[in-house]
Amino acid sequence: MEKTRVIVVGANGRMGREVVKAVAREGDLQLVGGVDVIEDEIRIDVGGREVQVKISSNLEESLNALEPHVLVDFTRPGVAMNHFRLAIAKGVSPVIGTTGITPEDIEEAGRLCAQHQVGAVIAPNFAIGAVLMMKFAEMAAPYLPDVEIIELHHNAKLDAPSGTALKTAEAINRVKERWSGSPAQATNGEPAARGMSVGGIQIHSVRLPGLVAHQEVIFGGPGQVLTIRHDSLSRESFMPGVILAIRRVRGLKELVYGLDRLLGL
Ligand code: NAD
Repeated sequence: MEKTRVIVVGANGRMGREVVKAVAREGDLQLVGGVDVIEDEIRIDVGGREVQVKISSNLEESLNALEPHVLVDFTRPGVAMNHFRLAIAKGVSPVIGTTGITPEDIEEAGRLCAQHQVGAVIAPNFAIGAVLMMKFAEMAAPYLPDVEIIELHHNAKLDAPSGTALKTAEAINRVKERWSGSPAQATNGEPAARGMSVGGIQIHSVRLPGLVAHQEVIFGGPGQVLTIRHDSLSRESFMPGVILAIRRVRGLKELVYGLDRLLGL
């Protein structure tokens, strides 16, 4: 059977390097190259075997020369959508892990997929445990009156609040008619101390070295507290989700937003 040809954009970054390794380990996938801002060659260890990956700085040239089926993007907000547009126009399916993608971007991405009949996946969190955390929070929301979210990430993360926290708040808000949450306001005139409100749900963002990606959804009810917590302890935690998206995206003809939808949750 023909292998799925994969190009990784942001290949020299923290996530990109992990994706390069994960793709190179899979027998049904073929890593055809990497793209990053600086031309380079990286060597990675795949099960004791050294694999060399050429990094080009020119995405368009790489798409033409390497003819990938799937483009995986872990770069930075603001540039990922350019890569998405370029890929779709060439019939290459994008799998976008970069966060900070706006609702307008998602709308445009859906339109482009429909227009070109090319599948795509955009997921702000590829950790399957994190997706389950969001689902469990959605299940708990109708039964417990108040909820707040604390998201904690490494200090190099560019966007805040995290896409996962926003998505969790949106999911909880969808079941809100059965939920009577009313967040307490700051009384000393400093609303920032209570975090950012998303539809009445306060989100608190912590950025510290040493952290990877963590989130707590805390529900409070009379006499009880339910805490749903997920920790990504290393970037490996995202790889099963990324590999699943690479395998599924070629069979799609539309945009799938969120790993939960890909998992059928
Ligand atoms: P990083 O800074 O380590 O890596 C980003 C890489 O992208 C760098 O090597 C940089 O040179 C490269 N880059 C920047 N602009 C580029 C361009 N125009 N063309 C090609 N390459 C370019 O960052 P990271 O920690 O690897 O995170 C990358 C993104 O992935 C962030 O948006 C982060 O929030 C997101 N992320 C998503 C998930 C998820 O599950 N969806 C998980 C972790 C991180």
